[in-house]
Amino acid sequence: MREVDVLVVGGGIVGMAAALDLARDGRAVAIVDDGRHSGTTANAGSLHVQMQSRFIRLYPDLAPNVERSLPLYVAGAARWRELAAELGADMEIKQSGGLMVAEDEAQFSFLAAKCARERALGLDVHMLDRAELSRIAPYLGEAVFGAELCREEGKLSPLKANEAVRRALDALGVLRLGETRVGTVARDGVGILATLEGRSAGTLRTGKVMLAAGSGTGALAAALGVRIPTEAEPLHMNITEATTPLIGHLVQHAERMITLKQLGAGQVVIGGGWPARFTGADAFPTVDPASMIGNLSLAQHIVPRLGALRVIRTWAGVNTTADGQCILGPLPGWPEVFAAVPGDAGYTLGPLVGRMAAAILSGREPGHDVSRFGVERFAAA
Ligand SMILES: Cc1cc2nc3c(=O)[nH]c(=O)nc-3n(C[C@H](O)[C@H](O)[C@H](O)COP(=O)(O)OP(=O)(O)OC[C@H]3O[C@@H](n4cnc5c(N)ncnc54)[C@H](O)[C@@H]3O)c2cc1C
Repeated sequence: MREVDVLVVGGGIVGMAAALDLARDGRAVAIVDDGRHSGTTANAGSLHVQMQSRFIRLYPDLAPNVERSLPLYVAGAARWRELAAELGADMEIKQSGGLMVAEDEAQFSFLAAKCARERALGLDVHMLDRAELSRIAPYLGEAVFGAELCREEGKLSPLKANEAVRRALDALGVLRLGETRVGTVARDGVGILATLEGRSAGTLRTGKVMLAAGSGTGALAAALGVRIPTEAEPLHMNITEATTPLIGHLVQHAERMITLKQLGAGQVVIGGGWPARFTGADAFPTVDPASMIGNLSLAQHIVPRLGALRVIRTWAGVNTTADGQCILGPLPGWPEVFAAVPGDAGYTLGPLVGRMAAAILSGREPGHDVSRFGVERFAAA
């Protein structure tokens, strides 16, 4: 039987970032990941800081939770830059600003009100009229009326970033068991015993467990009698062939579902929360052609020059939703089991949330106010 100090369930960005810090502390760490419902291997690489209009529209009652957390996104983007420097890795991080575009006066007013609230929280945000936009973003089509600019927003390459973190984990001797699912977690009188299913089936004994399993966290916690309301949300993505430098910003929309940005190698990544399909609860998500058409039509409407490019790949991934805020800390009744789930736009927050989770597990100060993020809030709800 394998024995480690800490079992991290879930090898997404949060689990990997937590494992990195725990291993640097000298602990023996195993990451077990089944890989089926990952946001980390499917995400668009946007560094989000301003409040996403998609979230406000879909979950208006939860929007204040995300809004209160916005300063954490500034810190999340900064932690990405720090991590890249620590690992000596080129992750193609660029914070050249994010534009949320409006197509009419009503959308512009909505953004202006959002901008004022965000500025009060300390974000570097400004409203731009059409003339100012034409100067800094001439690639935008005539349909665009104005925009909110957030200077702290940007992008990175998840492919490069994930690979760099995996390499660092391997160098530190972290045991990574892929295509393997944690079935049960139970006390056995000595510590915690976890049953593993799949490629590395068997049992593993550990002193502590970190549940960084994204949308799978709720089921693992439920088996311990604790409520964590994570939901799996399958989402669609597209990428075009490479073109000459065209789009310098992360582009979003005040009312419609779109994010687009251009990678260093020239391809344009287009997403924004269009739905993908599940054929079964445990199956991989699959592409919905209607989402591809809707997403790409909107992209061309906002940036007409995209119409000349071929789409070279589409894919689907699984996002995690809960109440919009991070979920961090020990499970009630299980002081040796910790939850680590980021809030909305969780790739941006991933390295920071992993770092805070590792600090909490180790009894250190997490460095940010986590008083709203405890698991017990769901029991109260
Ligand atoms: C298409 C798409 C685009 C996105 N774009 C962006 C973006 O541009 N910017 C941004 O900030 N965020 C984005 N997100 C959100 C972001 O990807 C996620 O919030 C983030 O990756 C979550 O990281 P995580 O480590 O918490 O969870 P995940 O990356 O979901 O990893 C959890 C892992 O745990 C595994 N797991 C679950 N249960 C078990 C179990 N019982 N045993 C073993 N393993 C288990 C899962 O299979 C998965 O591999 C996007 C999400 C999607 C789906």
